Amino acid sequence: MRIVVTGGAGFIGSHFVRQAVTGVYTGGVRPEVVVLDRLTYAGNRANLAPVADGERLGFVHGDICDAALVDEVLRGCDLLVHFAAESHVDRSISGSEEFVRTNVLGTQTLLEAAGRAGVGKFVHVSTDEVYGSISEGSWTESEPLDPNSPYAASKASSDLMVLAFHRTHGLPVCVTRCSNNYGPYQYPEKVIPLFVTNLLEGRRVPLYGDGGNVRDWLHVDDHCRGIALVAEKGRAGEIYNIGGGTELTNRELTENLLGLLGADWSMVERVPDRKGHDRRYSVDITKISGELGYRPERSFSEGLAETVAWYVGNRDWWDPLREVTR
Ligand code: NAD
Repeated sequence: MRIVVTGGAGFIGSHFVRQAVTGVYTGGVRPEVVVLDRLTYAGNRANLAPVADGERLGFVHGDICDAALVDEVLRGCDLLVHFAAESHVDRSISGSEEFVRTNVLGTQTLLEAAGRAGVGKFVHVSTDEVYGSISEGSWTESEPLDPNSPYAASKASSDLMVLAFHRTHGLPVCVTRCSNNYGPYQYPEKVIPLFVTNLLEGRRVPLYGDGGNVRDWLHVDDHCRGIALVAEKGRAGEIYNIGGGTELTNRELTENLLGLLGADWSMVERVPDRKGHDRRYSVDITKISGELGYRPERSFSEGLAETVAWYVGNRDWWDPLREVTR
């Protein structure tokens, strides 16, 4: 089996690759895995170091918008798992062009090429942010799209393009929409690694607005297992929500992180709220649970403690990245 993973040097993609090459998702049989990644600021070959020696892993340094390259990479591909994206909301607020280029045009380039190559299955990794914000209850997959940030709008556009390629050309696609991921190897601009690395450097952490925004936290390992289930058994043309089942306000999350790192509220700096900040996200995971047998397995308290311990023990991984952002 040949699996192509776009964005496989990023946070979630690299977790999927590290698991996939060892056969975790294919009953112990080790597939051939090829990563296609442009290595933007968020892409890092070090994320693949634990499996880089294996002969089952190939790496192509390139852009998903490069149609000729994508044609070459997709030749003989049984499964395409598409993670590559510009993924940080704050960056999309200061400049959205790269989000439209990679997230929309890049996805469209992959879709065209996947059709030409006869790819067996195309799993498009999307986000719950395409649904907008919900004050109570949870979104099912039939919820109309109502994105608020340029990031979410670019992902919503790509979702629609993916589904259109199924309806128009019969391309065997699935879309997954997950909640907020956490775990090791996450770039230290996202809230959990940002707060942890700030505290480890003795700096204060910036809490947006009143800290009352609610997110559902999903361990990256649960997310990737959900993606693998969709890849194996998801019905073509369908959307599957993937959630973690732990809703917390940003204040509660901050409290947890301060506790794990032995710090107190004097280390918190209130900053003006993010523009257009969605108040609450919540996905209903009835569909993937009922159809594919998914359920989140990682407890948030253990997963968060392990994640913090990983950042404590892997300063050589994040220190150079902090140098860039400082
Ligand atoms: P990330 O920013 O850590 O990694 C993105 C990867 O894509 C990087 O390796 C980067 O080099 C690569 N990339 C970017 N532009 C590219 C291009 N034009 N061509 C080839 N490669 C390119 O992102 P992540 O957090 O791992 O997210 C992966 C996917 O999951 C994204 O599609 C994102 O929208 C989605 N998602 C993430 C979260 C989350 O909590 N992190 C939540 C929901 C959905």
